[in-house]
Amino acid sequence: MALTDDIEDIRSSFSDALESAGDDLEELESLRIQYLGRKGKVQQLFSLIGQADPEERPKIGKLINDLKEEVTDKLESAKAQAEAAKERKEAEIDVTLPGVQPFVGHDHPLALTMDKMQQIFTSLGFVTMEGPEIETDYYNFESLNIPKDHPARDMQDTFYIEDEIVLRTHTSPVQVRVMENYDPPVRIIVPGRVYRNEAVSARSNCLFYQIEGLYVDEDVTFADLKGTLQQFIHRFFGKDAKIRFRPDFFPFTEPSVEIDISCFICGGSGCRLCKNEGWLEILGAGMVDPNVFQYAGYDPEKYTGFAFGMGVDRIALMKYGVHDIRLLYDSDLRFLRQF
Ligand SMILES: [Zn+2]
Repeated sequence: MALTDDIEDIRSSFSDALESAGDDLEELESLRIQYLGRKGKVQQLFSLIGQADPEERPKIGKLINDLKEEVTDKLESAKAQAEAAKERKEAEIDVTLPGVQPFVGHDHPLALTMDKMQQIFTSLGFVTMEGPEIETDYYNFESLNIPKDHPARDMQDTFYIEDEIVLRTHTSPVQVRVMENYDPPVRIIVPGRVYRNEAVSARSNCLFYQIEGLYVDEDVTFADLKGTLQQFIHRFFGKDAKIRFRPDFFPFTEPSVEIDISCFICGGSGCRLCKNEGWLEILGAGMVDPNVFQYAGYDPEKYTGFAFGMGVDRIALMKYGVHDIRLLYDSDLRFLRQF
């Protein structure tokens, strides 16, 4: 009964090999080929049936079939076990890997710029005040020495809500509101959103941020204006920033100036940011027009003051080297995460 011995030999050699293969999937696959493949050990047994006694053949055939089934079952369950073990292992936490950093949000570039400006003026004794974004014609224009027929109204394309109600075109109305409610000395800054009826482009938007300042007391002079703004510019743009005053016109100040700083990219030799001028226009300022004091109920004989205003967006764009104002309003995290 040599053939039945062969069957038992193969059964026991398979058993040993299966045990030593353990959870090794490659090893199990090679066992499958070795035993169940077309030229495998079990298959070869079938070709030996012919050598057995004719009456023994059905019995031998059944034994080989049983072996084949047993080997198949055991291999399959070993393979399933090995795969489960592999998955478990992959799901395990590797404590030696660096952790995943959770994303922590931060301030918007406009807020960062505004905060820094505010910090500087606060340290110079200015108090922050705010006012409504929907204003009356009176506070937005009239009380700032811009009567209805004044050409300066054309300088600011305005969104009208009703006849006498506008979206404020500047933060200056807050100056008047403060002067109506507080006696001098007044030393305030007014940060806030303003609106202009303008086409949206890379350089201009229909809404933007301004920061406005006002200082009123007895004997405030142009030298105070100069000193204050010089201090601000040196602290915001750096000690090397050179400053240039140019005469300008605003209805609510007299005299009025435009203040430029030397380009902080090229240092004045000319580049793309400053359009080869070497200078960047950053703010407008002037001594408060006596007419404005009269509207607000201050005695223009007794008090003098200066006011200034600047566009926060423009300064943020320059500071961070951004070329399109719309990026500041798109809420695109790919852009915002860079700051
Ligand atoms: Zn430049």
